[in-house]
Amino acid sequence: MSHRYATRGKNSRRSPNGKGPKAAPSNGRPDRRKKKKKESDLKRSDLIQQAQVRKEVVFEASFDFSESGLHDKLLKNLEAKGYTKPTEIQEKSLKAQLEGRDILGIAKTGSGKTAAFLLPILQKQIEGKFQALVLAPTRELALQISDEYRSLNKGLGLYNSTFIGGTNMNKDLELAGKRNDLIVATPGRLLDLYQRGAIHFKALKCLIIDEFDRMLDMGFERDLNKIIDALPIERQNLLFSATLDPNQERKIQALLNNPVRLQISSGNTSNDHIQQELIEVAAGESKMPILIDMLKQDDFNRVILFAETKRWVSKLKRKLSQAGIRADEIHGDKSQNYRQKALNKFKKGHIQVLVATDVAARGIDVDDVSHVINYQIPQTLDSYIHRVGRTGRAGKTGMAYTFVES
Ligand code: ADP
Ligand code: MG
Repeated sequence: MSHRYATRGKNSRRSPNGKGPKAAPSNGRPDRRKKKKKESDLKRSDLIQQAQVRKEVVFEASFDFSESGLHDKLLKNLEAKGYTKPTEIQEKSLKAQLEGRDILGIAKTGSGKTAAFLLPILQKQIEGKFQALVLAPTRELALQISDEYRSLNKGLGLYNSTFIGGTNMNKDLELAGKRNDLIVATPGRLLDLYQRGAIHFKALKCLIIDEFDRMLDMGFERDLNKIIDALPIERQNLLFSATLDPNQERKIQALLNNPVRLQISSGNTSNDHIQQELIEVAAGESKMPILIDMLKQDDFNRVILFAETKRWVSKLKRKLSQAGIRADEIHGDKSQNYRQKALNKFKKGHIQVLVATDVAARGIDVDDVSHVINYQIPQTLDSYIHRVGRTGRAGKTGMAYTFVES
């Protein structure tokens, strides 16, 4: 695949071969960045390594869903979604999950981890009462997981609620007291409901932590621990992510009981369906004209543009709008209503560019995102892997560009 935008800033260079996924090598100058403070930990060499991720052996499912032993009604729902064969993580987690084992599942972005944990839960819910709780780091991801559950539970008489911040509390208070076979939540709102006595977890059989490495981070740790303390000790635990932080090993061990480790990918590489390239700009050179040139190309039709801060996101959105590019923004200072509307406009193709902070980096699944662009180098490798992972999903190819200041 070749990309056709040609005009760059006068001082900028493109990658050495001028095309393809290879990233530009270091320019030989010593890296003046200090590791401390707010500078990104991520180095140009890390990105080059990511861009050169080799194609891995293509996975061939050993069975079709129709032969999987899943309930007929569930098969019908799978068929309606166009899922005929399991992805690797789906195939490998099915049996262990049905046997009630705890699971640590590491598989690349866009590899179908959601259905990997939902299908066995649904199968168990068809067979009997099996209440499960999914925790996710962002509101949009929680909503998306509920959507996937609802599309798979049609005709099964199962109930589900999503509890996320920024929404009407009274409605949640009411829903919390009703039958919920699956609860999907962000930690803050769920804890709030629990502390108000609106919800209990006495019948809970299974805890799933999606994007678990993010959830075990300091930012969520306190709320997460309080929630876990409120759950029955006897329960199944499932942890899923595309990335794994070796420093969290003890926390993971503490959560899981004799787990099956399904490490389908290393936990520190991006999906090899994503072509990645660096755009080198000289210090002080404006990136905006380069960006606008890129976005005016036809194939940049559904783009997520990541920036480091909420202010940068708003600024970029404004500048793109001024340049006549249909764009909207999503970040933590926007109301939940605004965030959802912006995401929906993007999904429906009403806007070309969604400008976002890392709030949209994890889990968000929008069909056919053509390009991910990092306007600044992300803070961490995990952040990079998840951001670029918004494209190249479900076996499709995608492209990612990262602006790097030399
Ligand atoms: P992950 O959580 O691993 O990043 P998702 O669960 O969001 O991935 O799934 C990525 C995409 O793959 C979604 O659009 C989903 O509908 C699709 N998908 C999942 N499982 C299958 C399957 N077995 N066959 C076809 N498409 C699938
Ligand atoms: Mg996911």
